Amino acid sequence: MIEPLDVLAVMAHPDDAEILCGGALIKSAKAGERTGVLDLTAGEAGSSGTIATRAREAECAAGVMGLADRRCAGLEDSGLTNDRESRLVVAGLIRALRPRVVVTHWTEGRHPDHREAARLARDASFLAGLLKLPVAGAPHRPEKLVYALSFLENPVKPTFVVDITGEMDRKIDALSCYDSQFQGKTGMGEVFPGGDRPLFEQIRNVHGSYGALIRCGYAEPYWTKETVEAPTLGTLSVRSF
Ligand SMILES: [Zn+2]
Repeated sequence: MIEPLDVLAVMAHPDDAEILCGGALIKSAKAGERTGVLDLTAGEAGSSGTIATRAREAECAAGVMGLADRRCAGLEDSGLTNDRESRLVVAGLIRALRPRVVVTHWTEGRHPDHREAARLARDASFLAGLLKLPVAGAPHRPEKLVYALSFLENPVKPTFVVDITGEMDRKIDALSCYDSQFQGKTGMGEVFPGGDRPLFEQIRNVHGSYGALIRCGYAEPYWTKETVEAPTLGTLSVRSF
């Protein structure tokens, strides 16, 4: 059994974790937290890059982000479904990795796999804790589920943002591993083009805008069903004026 993870990103395709929560994963790893990525599919339906190329790229990015673990659930790309069979596969992997926090896609999105991934991650996280679930491994239920909000066309107000000013360059380094996907692009997946701005510049712009919400350089936005706790009123941060 491996040492439990602090944070696990459960995302539809290789490169989704980097785009949506790469900065926060890098920051967690720097802080000594054990981080991991579970790619639900190998991205085999993507228009460019073979499975082998994409696996190599994902491994390269895992190294750049300092992940303790990265694996692929092997579910069907462009056919991701929150059915019982898929939930059992993901629940088994959650039992193996034992994350405290799970990060996944927002529940709406352009790619159907992203929407399904959000529901699959939530349901599998719950089921993994059931004693009698017919899946190998000891029951384990993550304590917290967090949705990554970056690049939504219909933006949702974040519950919180993570300051990734110090991690922005390395996030771009991780994305640079995905040569087969991003070379020469201005938009990709949920990242809509900003005119003819190069893709990485467009990604920086979006994180810059979220950074301004907490008066920092760059940030990644997240949402939770639960209310976020403040220790006292006197320690509240982010200026109102
Ligand atoms: Zn994707």
